[in-house]
Amino acid sequence: MAEGTLCNKKPITTKEALKALMADRAGKKYYQEMNELEVDQKALAAALEKTCLARFRTWLEICAHCGMCADSCFFYLANDKDPTQVPSYKIQTTLKEMVRRKGKVDNAFMQMTMDTAWSKCTCCNRCALYCPFGIDMGVMFSYVRGLCFSQGFVPWEMKIGSGMHRIYRAQMDVDTEDWVDTVAFEAEGIDEEYPGMTIPVDKENADIMYTLNAREAKH
Ligand code: SF4
Ligand code: SF4
Repeated sequence: MAEGTLCNKKPITTKEALKALMADRAGKKYYQEMNELEVDQKALAAALEKTCLARFRTWLEICAHCGMCADSCFFYLANDKDPTQVPSYKIQTTLKEMVRRKGKVDNAFMQMTMDTAWSKCTCCNRCALYCPFGIDMGVMFSYVRGLCFSQGFVPWEMKIGSGMHRIYRAQMDVDTEDWVDTVAFEAEGIDEEYPGMTIPVDKENADIMYTLNAREAKH
């Protein structure tokens, strides 16, 4: 893959690369370039061999296709019980197939897997509670996402989000200074209603740690 492309196997590490990616409206160029990505089958096979087989082989092999996990998945329910949205179907057609082919998969397969891993599973882990064996698609799809990312098959928004984490340490472009200012601003407002109340940041030995979605800080 040539240097300077928007869609490649490398993570975003510079502000320039991040800006270029964000300027690509709706990821139009990014997704066009994705069609040209070559799967590094050797690297994929090595990754599967190293971690996946040891961790997930049992789960992938013992699935009895009983379908008890189906109703636990809101994608299945929200899509008129579409059988392709059954948790076990989703993992069998992606990760298990990848393992079966020992990483020898093509671009179209990786794009299908990417779509499944991000658009058909939120990694909520709910199906694991319903499966008699405790097979957890959420855990496996988290891993599949990593595999896809390492090969450059990652949704445009997620590539931007991960780049923001690397560069700004927050996916909403909120840096530490902004965050501390925002907290101080909010604390002033709170003080009117609850005199003396403060919002400590990075307080050592605190009894409670409160974290929040970066979107709340941003907006
Ligand atoms: S409930 Fe478990 S064993 Fe049954 S189909 Fe789902 S994952 Fe497979
Ligand atoms: S982990 Fe994924 S497949 Fe399982 S219930 Fe949640 S969204 Fe559905």
